Amino acid sequence: MKTYNIVIIGSGPAGLTAAIYAARSEFVPLVIKGVSAGGQLMITNDVENFPGFHEGIMGPQLIENMTTQAERFGTQFHSGSVQSIQVPDDPIKEGFIITLTDETQIKARSIIIATGARARLLPLPAVDALMGHGVSACATCDGFFYKGKKVIVVGGGDSAAEEALFLTRFAEKVYMVHRRDQLRASRIMADRVAANNKIEVLWNSVLADIYDIEKGKVTGVRLKDTKTDEERDMDIDGVFFGIGHIPATEFLHGVVDLNEKKYIIVSDHSRTSVEGIFAAGDCVDALYQQAITSAGMGCAAAIDAGNWLAENGISDS
Ligand code: NAP
Repeated sequence: MKTYNIVIIGSGPAGLTAAIYAARSEFVPLVIKGVSAGGQLMITNDVENFPGFHEGIMGPQLIENMTTQAERFGTQFHSGSVQSIQVPDDPIKEGFIITLTDETQIKARSIIIATGARARLLPLPAVDALMGHGVSACATCDGFFYKGKKVIVVGGGDSAAEEALFLTRFAEKVYMVHRRDQLRASRIMADRVAANNKIEVLWNSVLADIYDIEKGKVTGVRLKDTKTDEERDMDIDGVFFGIGHIPATEFLHGVVDLNEKKYIIVSDHSRTSVEGIFAAGDCVDALYQQAITSAGMGCAAAIDAGNWLAENGISDS
């Protein structure tokens, strides 16, 4: 089995930036693309804050550009989902064994984990039952189906604000359901929400239930007032979640140290608790979660991995 010097798990901005840097250092990295290749930017419309694109760029286009740039310097790609990583006594001599869900095995002297995060949902039976039938975590993907309809967006952060604003392009009315009396979203996003007359924020409210599992589609919701515990029903056609993210680190339990929220713990920039495994992007960072910070972390991880390989006598492919 071939041993790669650097295998990058994940193909969002962190993974692809790591690939660009590793490939330009002539390490010929392999990127394992994962089931949702490209990560969250693939479900993001306009990216207005990535430096260098002064008029904004569509998320999928940004990913395509980064992929082309990584390929230009020799990055190789493999589609698949990682199931486990076997840690050897000596990664340089023996190599880590990465096993994919289709049982393919890939050997690597060093690994950069850049698996990102996915949308958090609420643990209601109707969420599972009606996902794709009126329940969604991606306004960009599904907003089009709500022309002239009434929808709710759960959450009060930037993701919820962004989803609510996007949905006003289609929906007749967008309710933001937020559990407190103040948005967490940044000032600019909160101002845009306040200025949009299609959006109404339902303060101090949580989603208690979604109807109607039996009909196989969303017909309404039950909301609960967090101050009075009073409940009320509302007719609604769609429910969108914008309540944060969960890091994609399930396959790392027992491999590298994770914090209580299951984000990867790094020290000395991108080093995990296992020598030879580095990490970058949203699977590490619960705070910033921006494409540009992920890209920066990916760059750092590639440099750190390259330096570590060099310290151990490996200089290129
Ligand atoms: P977030 O900032 O953590 O906000 C999550 C929101 O969901 C909060 O309002 C939170 O309420 C609410 N929430 C969490 N769990 C809940 C539950 N169980 N029930 C009801 N509500 C719940 O997450 P995010 O909006 O995904 O943003 C993550 C990061 O990405 C942030 O740094 C954000 O700035 C960034 N981001 C930026 C943009 C942009 O710049 N355009 C777009 C998207 C994301 P509380 O407020 O009460 O905690």
